[in-house]
Amino acid sequence: MQAIENETAAGDEVKILLDMDDVPRAWYNILPDLPAPLPPPLHPGTKQPVGPDAFEPIFPKEIIRQEMSGNATEPIPEELREAYLRLGRPTPMYRAKRLEAFLKTPARIYYKREDLSPVGSHKPNTAIAQAYFARREGVEAYVTETGAGQWGSAVALATNYFGMKAKVYMVRASYDQKPYRKHLMRLFGAEVFPSPSGQTSFGRKLLEKNPDNPGSLGIAISEALESTVTTPNTKYSIGSVLNHVLMHQTVIGLEALKQFEVADVEPDYMVGSVGGGSNFGGFAYPLIGERLHGRSETRFIAVEPESVPSMTRGKYEYDFGDTAGLTPLIKMFTLGHDFMPSPIHAGGLRYHGSAPTLSVLLDAGIVEPRAVDQLTTFQAAEIFAKTEGLIPAPETAHAIRGAIDLALEAKRRNEETVIAFNYSGHGLLDMEGYAQYLAGNLGNNGNDGNGHNGGNGH
Ligand SMILES: *Cc1c(COP(=O)(O)O)cnc(C)c1O
Repeated sequence: MQAIENETAAGDEVKILLDMDDVPRAWYNILPDLPAPLPPPLHPGTKQPVGPDAFEPIFPKEIIRQEMSGNATEPIPEELREAYLRLGRPTPMYRAKRLEAFLKTPARIYYKREDLSPVGSHKPNTAIAQAYFARREGVEAYVTETGAGQWGSAVALATNYFGMKAKVYMVRASYDQKPYRKHLMRLFGAEVFPSPSGQTSFGRKLLEKNPDNPGSLGIAISEALESTVTTPNTKYSIGSVLNHVLMHQTVIGLEALKQFEVADVEPDYMVGSVGGGSNFGGFAYPLIGERLHGRSETRFIAVEPESVPSMTRGKYEYDFGDTAGLTPLIKMFTLGHDFMPSPIHAGGLRYHGSAPTLSVLLDAGIVEPRAVDQLTTFQAAEIFAKTEGLIPAPETAHAIRGAIDLALEAKRRNEETVIAFNYSGHGLLDMEGYAQYLAGNLGNNGNDGNGHNGGNGH
């Protein structure tokens, strides 16, 4: 809680900027600080832990090392740090004074601007790191999957930056309905295939049965993995869930800690939206580390859609990471790998599980989950657009909804609570979702009647 007499102090700034020197020189690794050891990935047949060699056909060696690293931090090489500088880091933190005034809340609300990257989200923080390390060991191409295109855009940007090729399997329904991310990826030089495609034997088999197969993220992952292992000098890039991805994203939270210092505040709450957990983890883990060491009392709120309630209603158990059941079994809060989410507009939050590290923290009660429905989430986005002047991605709107709810709770208790949330991305390529909202066609939990999944997503 902030003392009232601090009101005229530095915390009143509307924008908290950092210097180039403040871009981190190392990532924070939460693994050694976790309150319980991370359950290892298991082989689906033998149920025995799988070693690093199991991942060698798909991931670069350095990425596998980082995935299993027990070091407290991992260094960010200077050439990569320069890429972070060029691609928008350090990002500013804003104080949402106009939103606070609208809500008539005594709470102070801060948000970290991860929408300012070239593709409009936090996702390049890991894509650029993965491309850097892959290129360093001579990998020529990355393959990945994308739903509506946000992750594919980040991989296209990053591979192009470090002189690699990219192949992106894009869910066919999105490929046909949402042209802009596809053009963006191609402009960066990526090859983009509608999935199922004729490029893989798995895709060809599906197309033989049904040439109009609309595809799914699970099918696209299967094609990307097949394409990876059948093409020389090619690896697979993943956008969330795994330890190394969340670690790369901690540049967000490490910068945020400095910004809290500049603003002279200690947040009572840190809030983020959760699909697989990468933007939430990146934002919150450095301060969660402080709490695990007894140096902070901040509470951590992870927000998910009511229609994909993996954290609030899922089970903490071993499950496949993908729909097709190709990955090792990983222990996480999950709705089951065959869970079919309704077509909500926050496409990036339609994942059946949550990151294993986040799952340990949820299980230990360190991270508190909340679920919000689609309609009130879009209402929060509209309030934010009208007060702060920014149009959030539907995924990001979940964090905004969570922050607004906390600010209203603070108002009822008349407490000067400090709330910080991660503004994970902009919604400028998500206008279909907003069109449905403005037309009054938006259901509470997806199903707006026409099967659209307008989120900018995975
Ligand atoms: C992909 C995405 C998310 C959700 O993914 P996480 O891995 O949970 O962060 C959230 N916000 C935006 C803008 C995204 O593009």
